[in-house]
Amino acid sequence: MQSYKMDNAAGFQMTADRGWMARTATAGMAATKARRTIDDRSAAPHKPPAAAPTARRERNCSVARTLDIVSDAWAFLIIREAFFGTRTFEGFRSALGIPRATLTDRLRKLTRLAIFRQVATAIPNRNEYRLTKMGFDLYPSFIALMQFGDAWLSGKKPPPLTLIHVPCGCDSHPVVACSHCHKELTAREVEYRDGPGAGRSRAKAGRNTRRASDGSRFLAGRPSSVSRALQVIGDKWSFMVVREAFFGNRRYDKIQTELEIAPNILTDRLSRLVTQGVFDRRLYQSAPDRYEYVLTDMGRDFYGPFVAMLAWGDRWLASGKPPLILTHKSCGHDFQAEVICDQCQRPIVAADMKYRLTYDPKAFGALGPRSIA
Ligand SMILES: [Zn+2]
Ligand SMILES: [Zn+2]
Repeated sequence: MQSYKMDNAAGFQMTADRGWMARTATAGMAATKARRTIDDRSAAPHKPPAAAPTARRERNCSVARTLDIVSDAWAFLIIREAFFGTRTFEGFRSALGIPRATLTDRLRKLTRLAIFRQVATAIPNRNEYRLTKMGFDLYPSFIALMQFGDAWLSGKKPPPLTLIHVPCGCDSHPVVACSHCHKELTAREVEYRDGPGAGRSRAKAGRNTRRASDGSRFLAGRPSSVSRALQVIGDKWSFMVVREAFFGNRRYDKIQTELEIAPNILTDRLSRLVTQGVFDRRLYQSAPDRYEYVLTDMGRDFYGPFVAMLAWGDRWLASGKPPLILTHKSCGHDFQAEVICDQCQRPIVAADMKYRLTYDPKAFGALGPRSIA
C-alpha cells in the first residue's frame, strides 16, 4: 500500500530558509497548493505514483534555459569546438566523430537558436558556421564550468588546458564575481527575490524523461574539464536537483514536490550525485529513517557556473524579464554574475585568451586553439 500525505501538513517548508541563498520574497516560488506527494523513499525502492500526473509545470529559470541548450551533449561539443576555431561541417565531423545526420540536425538547431549563423563560402553549397554574439557570450559560462572541472574532476593529472589572459599576460584562473563590487561570489553571500519573469511554465514535452544518465556522452573528442563538469551536472534532472539544494530544499519529499519528478528518476539522480561527491546523505530522522541531501564543498562550488549560466540565460533568453534578482549581501547591490580574470579582474571574453595544452589536438582530429601560447 502506498501512503500519501498533504504537503502543507508535513512541515517540509521548514527548511526553505536554511538554504545557501537566503530568500527575501516568497511570492510565486512556494506554490503550496495541496498536492499529494509520496512518502520519503530515501531508503526504499520506489513505486510509481498511483495516477499519471497532469502536465508538469517548471519554475521559470534562466539556468535551466541555458542548460536546455548545452545539456544536449552534441550541441555542447559543437559549440566547444567552435570556440577552438572550427567552422566547417567536416571540421566538426573530424573533431567529434559525430554521425552526419546528427551533425546536420544540431547545426540546424543551433542556427535556429541563433548560437551560430551560416556564412556562404567560395565553394557552392558549402557554408561555414560562425558563432554569433550570443554564441560567443557562452564562453564565460564554459570557462566557469572548466574551472570547476579543473578543481574537482581532473584527478591527480594537470588540467588539459592552461588559460593565458592576453590583456594582463598572466596564467588565469577566472572566477565568477559580482558585477557591482567584482568580488568572487559564494552562495552564502547571495540573496534572491522574484524578478519580473518569475512563475512557472509548462515543461517542454519530451524533455527530462531520461531514466538514467551516466553523462559519458559528453566526453567525445579532446580532453576537457568542461565536459567533465557537464558529465556531473549536464543531465537536466541532476542539475535541477542541485538547483533545489541551492534554494535550500534538501529533503526528498520537498524536492519531489518542487520538481514534480518521477520517484525512480529522483532516486537515481540523488544516488548518482552522492556517488559523485556533490551531496552528502544525512540521516535526519530515525524510525522510519529519513535522509536529507546536503551539498558538499564540491557541490557548493557549482554555484559559480550556475550563476554564470543564469546570467547568460537572463541576457539572451529572458526577454528582459529575469525570473530571479540576485543581491550580493557583501556589497548590498543587485548584480549580474560576471566571469573575470583572477589576476586583473577584467571580464573574460573568448578573443582575449591564449592556451597551453597538455595534449595534441591533432591526435583527436581537432583544430586549434588558434592562439597557443
Ligand atoms: Zn558585490
Ligand atoms: Zn587578466
